[in-house]
Amino acid sequence: MASSTKDLDGVVNDLPPGPLDTYRKQAKFHWKQMKLFFEDAELLKIKMKVWNTLERDPTFQRPKKVPDSDEMKRLAAIQLHKYCHYNFLHPDTAKLPYKRKTKFMMTVNEALAVAFPDVSIKHAVGIGLFKNALSTLGTERHQHFVDASWNNQVLACLALTEIAHGSNTKQMRTTATYDEKTQEFIINTPDFKAAKCWVGNLGKTCTVAVLFAQLYTKGHCHGLHAFVVPVRDPNTLLPYPGLIIGDMGEKIGLHGIDNGFILFKDYRIPRENLLNRTADVTPDGEYESSFSEPGKILGAALESLSTGRVGIMQESSNNLICAVTIAIRYAAIRKQFGPNGDGGNTKNEWPLIEYQLHRWRLFPHMAAAAILRTFVTSFTDTYLSAVELSTTSKEFQNLSDVVSEVHAIVSSAKALVTWSCRDAIQECREACGGHAFMKASRLGDLRTTNDPCVTYEGDNNVLLQQTSNWLLRQWQNLTQGNKLTTPLGSCKFLENHRFISSQTFRVVESKTLTSQKFISECYEWLIVYLLKQTDSKQSEIERRTNKFVARAESQVYCAALLSKVYIEYLALNYFWAKVCAADSTLINTLNNLGALYGLSSLEKHLVYFYQGSFTNNSNFSKMIKDTILFLCDILKPEALGIIDGMAPPDFVVNSVIGRSDGKLYENLEAELMHGLSVMSRPDWWREIVINNPPDFMRHRSKL
Ligand SMILES: Cc1cc2nc3c(=O)[nH]c(=O)nc-3n(C[C@H](O)[C@H](O)[C@H](O)COP(=O)(O)OP(=O)(O)OC[C@H]3O[C@@H](n4cnc5c(N)ncnc54)[C@H](O)[C@@H]3O)c2cc1C
Repeated sequence: MASSTKDLDGVVNDLPPGPLDTYRKQAKFHWKQMKLFFEDAELLKIKMKVWNTLERDPTFQRPKKVPDSDEMKRLAAIQLHKYCHYNFLHPDTAKLPYKRKTKFMMTVNEALAVAFPDVSIKHAVGIGLFKNALSTLGTERHQHFVDASWNNQVLACLALTEIAHGSNTKQMRTTATYDEKTQEFIINTPDFKAAKCWVGNLGKTCTVAVLFAQLYTKGHCHGLHAFVVPVRDPNTLLPYPGLIIGDMGEKIGLHGIDNGFILFKDYRIPRENLLNRTADVTPDGEYESSFSEPGKILGAALESLSTGRVGIMQESSNNLICAVTIAIRYAAIRKQFGPNGDGGNTKNEWPLIEYQLHRWRLFPHMAAAAILRTFVTSFTDTYLSAVELSTTSKEFQNLSDVVSEVHAIVSSAKALVTWSCRDAIQECREACGGHAFMKASRLGDLRTTNDPCVTYEGDNNVLLQQTSNWLLRQWQNLTQGNKLTTPLGSCKFLENHRFISSQTFRVVESKTLTSQKFISECYEWLIVYLLKQTDSKQSEIERRTNKFVARAESQVYCAALLSKVYIEYLALNYFWAKVCAADSTLINTLNNLGALYGLSSLEKHLVYFYQGSFTNNSNFSKMIKDTILFLCDILKPEALGIIDGMAPPDFVVNSVIGRSDGKLYENLEAELMHGLSVMSRPDWWREIVINNPPDFMRHRSKL
């Protein structure tokens, strides 16, 4: 049954009246109806419960004075304790089927992440991903760790990255050598370049690590395996003997997280601490690979590879919403210049949102927020179904294809969402002028919070290569007369590649440019074109060199772009699929948002349509640009409604210049006038007073 705004009664408060009403009233839909497009009513209730609880709790009040990084770590650790204590998940959650359970857990984490990112990352790494690693890589013999984690008795970390290697995990050099005599693994760090580093929670707080190390038995290396390794005494928080643990020191953001490094010297752990879902070592040192349940193993691989990335996508899409919320509310209130009068003397100043340039700067990011938020939510369902399927499916081949496709999608989706968020935050910061440079605007914090998301859980540029490799395999399937292996259908259109390639731009009426059909045809042509270009470039280079060089030399303008374009198109397809089922009052606006996202993304790739002879007509470029401006115009009356539909409550957006009451100047005044030490003389004033300074006031009074 379709949701109605009544489902939000008692869950989402009405918005406070104020100066934003002028624009709010122009929307042709109810903002709560729009909220129901972006949020599932049941899951939104869970989020609101988290936010309302934290808002009432003194531990979660934002400090008036910016603490130093040690204090931030203390605060985040205490907030994490408190958060775990709330147990937002019902105790029976653990018993629910996988998909439902994970959806609840992700929702709670999403709510925490957008309000308190440091705490959420500590929780995600220390509890969520730890449990995940144990259940996907471990077996029954690790149940006591799982139980301790569910009972919040242990905080963990995941230690993979080393000083000299991050992306290339095969080159990790930490070793775990089996000693048959004592039935233990001996862990060693060969030198500083192999020290594990950047590990979240390791610097000061965690007691256990999931460590990835090269497993050796009887002198043979069996590759990277995961081990549970106790690293600190839980009573004293001191590292155990044989370990050197340190904190990464001052970072450029996420100060509440204690990222750390660790070196091992003949450090012993029991044999049973090897996470043995895929392989085990017998007591007498035989290495046994256990591929008895290939489906489950594939599912495990999928989950351990992708869950963190899906979480990052959720976090970034929410941060993107916060950024555009702040900038568009600000644009509706902030006025500069106006038509009547010269310079600053006009009495009829325009709000920034009235300027075409300002709309053109912000609205494509608003559209990106809407499309990516919808994509991430819908794709999370697809992803969780795929993992669930892995526990039941007997069809190994199909499952293997699902895993490959999900991996290809997640890899480029994580890149698209985190980069879109990065670009939006910067534009929003500039669009709010100088006031956005105040910490209280939140835009700076959003920027530094999102920043490492483009790097951790796989650097974006490296991840894009995973997607293009999969797409090229699909292309080779086709060109060799085989079938596509796309169980999720993300590139099914390639079956028509001959027809798609033969398409050219026909001059159309400008209004057809906003149609899903036009945008889809452009994207499909572009993807086929880039596939051909990349494939032929790689083949040509490979003939002279080898596959490795061929891949390395075909990223720029080819493979990397191919992955970006593919995932933009897929995001749009997920969005359009959801729009079909939307409330009728929303459809027009949502279609306009889809068109704006599609055309402004295509605009960045315009040159390839000319290069590949899709057209040589200058109208193509002109019409796309004109339509982008047209869409920015017609979305103006809807913008505040769209934003209210996407935005979380003020406590979560947490911006003095982006509050829902629109009282920009009253809020700024309160912030400036009541800030700590704002008007006090600094303690160090004596150090800067010079001898015999001229006192112009005294001088004037003498006159
Ligand atoms: C805040 C933060 C938290 C983190 N938390 C953890 C954690 O909890 N546990 C953990 O194990 N790690 C953690 N990391 C480490 C993180 O996972 C790595 O930084 C990441 O995997 C990238 O590896 P790297 O830093 O070695 O970069 P590199 O692999 O050295 O990459 C550097 C640059 O080279 C480029 N590059 C690399 N290979 C290629 C190629 N083939 N072609 C073209 N370009 C290439 C990349 O795109 C990148 O821009 C964290 C990092 C940060 C910043």
